[in-house]
Amino acid sequence: MVILGRQGSGKGTQSEMLVERFGCVHVSTGDMLRAAVAAGTELGLKARAVMEAGDLVSDDIMNGIVAERLAEQDIAGNGVLLDGFPRTADQADALQAILDGLGQKLTVAVNLEVPVAEVTARMMARGRSDDTEDAISRRLELYDEQTAPLLEWFAAHDLLVEVDGLGTEDEVFDRLSTAVRTRL
Ligand code: ADP
Repeated sequence: MVILGRQGSGKGTQSEMLVERFGCVHVSTGDMLRAAVAAGTELGLKARAVMEAGDLVSDDIMNGIVAERLAEQDIAGNGVLLDGFPRTADQADALQAILDGLGQKLTVAVNLEVPVAEVTARMMARGRSDDTEDAISRRLELYDEQTAPLLEWFAAHDLLVEVDGLGTEDEVFDRLSTAVRTRL
């Protein structure tokens, strides 16, 4: 499965709930990058400035990280929820190739729809270190430019389900898990 949605749409929280419900592995590229930054690895050193500016880490790097992670054994057994990837057309193509190579297929892509004004307010309130006003508007701009067009890609492959992301966590989760269940 893939979960899509603007930054601040609640993707992270809902992803945790979804993997618990469906028993698949949560792969969050943002979490992987933050762990690399915290550990001071070579990847972390490269990613840090890019993330602080709200820019995207290069497709080459991201595609490599995800290819490696998806080849691990836990995923073959349990399936995966991808959170934060793909974010560009190049990444969507790479994902397709990675899955083909593993003999796996996507089941569903859920898009958590939350308006820009609401996600901006949420991000300002959560205060993560990369949640400065400039970085937030940069990330939202890149989302509209690069990630939103992916919705069409998923729709064309008949994988897309739109879910209203406004309401309480439980309300949103009910909508999401129903959407996923109908595709399993
Ligand atoms: P947000 O959804 O608020 O951007 P994430 O945790 O998904 O938060 O990502 C944090 C940062 O990590 C992004 O702003 C970006 O710099 C980097 N990042 C995460 N996933 C990707 C990706 N698939 N491609 C490029 N950069 C990524």
